[in-house]
Amino acid sequence: MGIETLPSSLQVQPALKQIRMELEDCKRCKLHMSRKTLVFGEGNDRAVLMFVGEGPGYDEDVQGRPFVGKAGQLLTKIIESIQLKREEVYIANIVKCRPPQNRNPEPDEIAACLPFLQKQIQAIQPKIICALGTFAAQSLLQTVEKISSLRGRPFDLRGIRVIPTYHPAFLLRNPEKKREVWEDMKKIAGWMKELGLSVQSEGTNKR
Ligand code: URA
Repeated sequence: MGIETLPSSLQVQPALKQIRMELEDCKRCKLHMSRKTLVFGEGNDRAVLMFVGEGPGYDEDVQGRPFVGKAGQLLTKIIESIQLKREEVYIANIVKCRPPQNRNPEPDEIAACLPFLQKQIQAIQPKIICALGTFAAQSLLQTVEKISSLRGRPFDLRGIRVIPTYHPAFLLRNPEKKREVWEDMKKIAGWMKELGLSVQSEGTNKR
C-alpha cells in the first residue's frame, strides 16, 4: 500500500519527524546526563485531544514512551472513560528526559524543553489540551497559580482550549480526587461533541 492510501492516523507527520530530528541526542539541559532515553511523545499525529504531563519517570525512561508506568495505566483508563482509545490522542510531557529520582523539573530544564513541546502542538494542532498536574498547567499557561485553583477551568492558548486537571500520579496517592478529574473529562467530552468531533470513532478521532 502506498503512503498516500494509508489512513491519516497511520501516516507519520513530516513536521513531527523534523522536530524529533532537531532534538537529536539533545544535550540542551542537564537532564541528558542521567537519562536513558529521550521520551518524545506518542499517539495520533492529528489528534483533536492532547494530554501533557510533567516528565518521564523510571518506566518511561527505560521504554522511551510517555505514561507507561502505574500513572500511565491510570491515564489510559481516564482516556477510555470518555470512549477514546489511547492511540486516538497524543501524549507528551513538559520535559522529555527523566529528572533524577523523579524530582520536579527545574525552571532551566523546562525553559530548554518547552519550545519543542510548543512545536509539537503547532504540528498536531489539537483543539483541546488536557494539562496534567502543576508543571504542565503552569508551564503551558505561564502562570504560578495552584493546580487546585486552575483545574477544571478552560483557558485559551492561541485558539486551543486548555483544561488543567490533576496528574494521575497525584490521583494514585489521593484517590478521593478522581471524582474531580471525572468532572473535567466530562467537560472535555462535551466540548468535543460541541465542536462536532466524535469521541466514538474507529481508528482516529475525526475533525
Ligand atoms: N508522569 C508524567 O508526567 N509523564 C510521564 O510520561 C509519566 C509519568
